[in-house]
Amino acid sequence: VRINSVAIIGGTHGNEYTGVYLLKRMKINKIHEKWEKLNIELILGNPKAYEKCVRFIDYDLNRSFLIKDLNNFDLSGYEADRAKVINHKLGPKEASETDFIIDIHSTTANMGVSIILHGDNQYNFKVASYIKEHLKNVFIYYVPEDSNADYPFLNSISPYGLTLEVGPIANGIVRHDILEKAEIALYKTIEFMYLMESKQMLELPRQLEVFEHVKTVDFPRNSQGEISAIIHKNLQDCDYPPLEKGMPIFYTLEGNTINFDENETMYPIFINEAAYYDKNIAFSLTKKVLRNIY
Ligand SMILES: [Zn+2]
Repeated sequence: VRINSVAIIGGTHGNEYTGVYLLKRMKINKIHEKWEKLNIELILGNPKAYEKCVRFIDYDLNRSFLIKDLNNFDLSGYEADRAKVINHKLGPKEASETDFIIDIHSTTANMGVSIILHGDNQYNFKVASYIKEHLKNVFIYYVPEDSNADYPFLNSISPYGLTLEVGPIANGIVRHDILEKAEIALYKTIEFMYLMESKQMLELPRQLEVFEHVKTVDFPRNSQGEISAIIHKNLQDCDYPPLEKGMPIFYTLEGNTINFDENETMYPIFINEAAYYDKNIAFSLTKKVLRNIY
């Protein structure tokens, strides 16, 4: 694997300010000079949504990168256009000029520093392992994917990359502690690529603990389709610890507790994520697995 060009994106979702402020900091600190062997591009993903402090204007930008949509010039909307601009600048997807894309996001869930990896890619797993070795409270969230299928994420433009997801943080604000952790994770990502390109030997554990996506769990709804129960207080902020059968997950508006009812131990994440209410998603479930990274 040769990595020469890296793109760092913040503000793909306009109300997630951590990434945007990291871009500002990197410009002030002249990141290009620090890592001169790598060609680093800094991009504000969704400037209009950032200006208005909203997730998106017409459509989720991080779901706008399917090949068929990038090639569809009848598709209207700000993000449909913006995706084509970004694809032109960094891609084009499937013949990308950019080797590695780091897309910075934030979450209202208590997920610490989460590295989201889509698909089976040993290089990406090694980067994630390197970050985990150098920073506390790092979790790897792995979404298995069919390598022949197309994916709508901004990251899918380049052959390698990851999504950095930090939290808990409200939308539209910046927090020093979260910004600091995200920055370390980001710099460790670049450092890994830099050291690999400099042919330096890196000692990494042979196995990596990853949380593999199983499914999403919807909020309970009434006959009108409205959400009829909230996240139970015992589950709130418990992203990543094990969830066992019988543990409370929801509290209904009538005052009843709904318990987890699956036999297998699961590891919940994105608990009470603000951006998922309109999709009726309460949290996601993962299973913990060890992966060989060599
Ligand atoms: Zn986001």
